[in-house]
Amino acid sequence: MLPDLVIGSGPAGVSVATALLARGRRVVMLDGGKDLPPEAEARRGALAATPPERWREDQRTAWQAGQFDAAGSEVRRFGTGYAMEPAEATFAATDGLALRASLAVGGLSNYWGAAMLPYRQSDMGGWPISEADLAPHYAAVLDFVPMAGVTDALAPLFPAVPMAGRSPIPPGPQARRALSRHYPSDRFHLGLARQAVASGCTGCGMCLHGCPWRLIWSARQQVARLRQQEGFTHRPGPPVLSISETGNAATVHLADGTSVEGARVYLAAGVLGTAPILLRALDLPDLVMRDSAQGFLPTLQLARTDAAPDRMPFHTLPQMFAELTDPAVSPQTVHAQLYGWNEYYERDLRTNYGSKLPFAGPLWRTLARRLVVAQIFLHSDHSASARLALAPDGRLQAHVLKNPETWGQLKRAATAMGGHLRRAGLQPLVFALRAGAPGSGFHAGSTLPMTRNPGPRQSDPLGRPVGRQRLHVVDASVLPAIPATTITLAVMANAHRIGAYNPG
Ligand SMILES: Cc1cc2nc3c(=O)[nH]c(=O)nc-3n(C[C@H](O)[C@H](O)[C@H](O)COP(=O)(O)OP(=O)(O)OC[C@H]3O[C@@H](n4cnc5c(N)ncnc54)[C@H](O)[C@@H]3O)c2cc1C
Ligand code: SF4
Repeated sequence: MLPDLVIGSGPAGVSVATALLARGRRVVMLDGGKDLPPEAEARRGALAATPPERWREDQRTAWQAGQFDAAGSEVRRFGTGYAMEPAEATFAATDGLALRASLAVGGLSNYWGAAMLPYRQSDMGGWPISEADLAPHYAAVLDFVPMAGVTDALAPLFPAVPMAGRSPIPPGPQARRALSRHYPSDRFHLGLARQAVASGCTGCGMCLHGCPWRLIWSARQQVARLRQQEGFTHRPGPPVLSISETGNAATVHLADGTSVEGARVYLAAGVLGTAPILLRALDLPDLVMRDSAQGFLPTLQLARTDAAPDRMPFHTLPQMFAELTDPAVSPQTVHAQLYGWNEYYERDLRTNYGSKLPFAGPLWRTLARRLVVAQIFLHSDHSASARLALAPDGRLQAHVLKNPETWGQLKRAATAMGGHLRRAGLQPLVFALRAGAPGSGFHAGSTLPMTRNPGPRQSDPLGRPVGRQRLHVVDASVLPAIPATTITLAVMANAHRIGAYNPG
């Protein structure tokens, strides 16, 4: 019997593969195969072998240099950019779209921020699946993904993922102070962030440069676990170009001219990896991708905290989540991730204002220690989208379709959130609100949205495009919309749901 083929080893790919194996299917996983270069792995190992209190300053600086040296919106971790493709590898023209693809084992989860929330039923209006349909699959995914957090003010909003029995990464002094001052409101909910981080955090503060202990989960870890399982084969290699199907088999066509046959294909190449495959396989002129717009609202915590936020132990992942459920602002949830001190704040202040106030070094340091930045996300209804087509050379050609309401909506959300944050002792600097470029939040998808009665450019609730029986698209491409709350946990649950279903 033919195996099932999974294209992609990111969060969506490992989730669908885990579900298929649990059903007794044989699975061959194909991906771009890029992995952490050996010299970077050696640097990581050396750091992890020493407790962070004993690291030398030059070791810290060297670990951070890779990211600090990265150009523009490029992201690096572990000192290398291997897990994020440069714009020109994916696009003939980006038109300002900041989303990037990955050809790595584990995909973009090698670099992600690890913030995790499920979707809320109220943000899934008109979807062919419900929060209840996803609930068992959140549980299945969280069997292999660690989730740090607690039951707090956010719990009633997200019943699909109960937090009982979980432990948080110890919050920093800024979050401790804000949370101790916050009082409940039915339109604003502030709580500790939930992150995909395993227990044992040393508080070394290197989260934005790659965790030396690999405590920040990446799908690469699940690929390694699946490799130990019978019936699973990992086949890194040339990229997939297209997929065809006959009556009882599906064929994946690779860039080197070879092909692989399977019973079914589960396509999880990430939104930008999946789009060109779909454009070729379905012979479509274009696809429209939806984005969840993001903006940055700086706030100042003027009161002193009980400890310096830049003294170990501390972490630089999101410290708090804030959810605005105010119909006067949006019918959908507005989500924010609040970041306490990190080593970028002082650098950014110096870069932007240093030439005007050259002797103000200590001021920037003091200011940086008081900053808490809210990264605000909007639902895709309020955000830009992008038309994706194939350029003659096979890369993508993007055309950004701006949404005239995005900036106004972002300002309304920041003003309303800012009012609530002020009561938690965080003074919002709404005049300094900054919008991110489309795609820069990496919460994007919906190119082939699931619907009950699919037409062209849509898929059925099992991610199958019209006319295809053996091709299931399982990554964010099939989300009917992009809610503001974090994307990856819901994508994983949905991929697991599709893989768990026995189509006969
Ligand atoms: C800096 C950053 C921070 C982020 N922070 C968060 C966060 O805090 N919370 C959150 O929810 N999300 C976050 N994200 C988004 C998150 O990383 C993605 O949602 C997630 O990785 C998507 O998973 P995926 O499996 O669909 O695709 P990807 O992770 O992109 O994986 C794609 C896979 O497909 C393979 N592939 C691609 N093209 C081909 C091809 N043609 N042929 C064969 N294989 C192919 C790749 O090798 C890879 O294995 C962040 C992303 C970034 C970059
Ligand atoms: S602070 Fe961040 S990088 Fe350091 S151990 Fe904890 S999770 Fe890893």
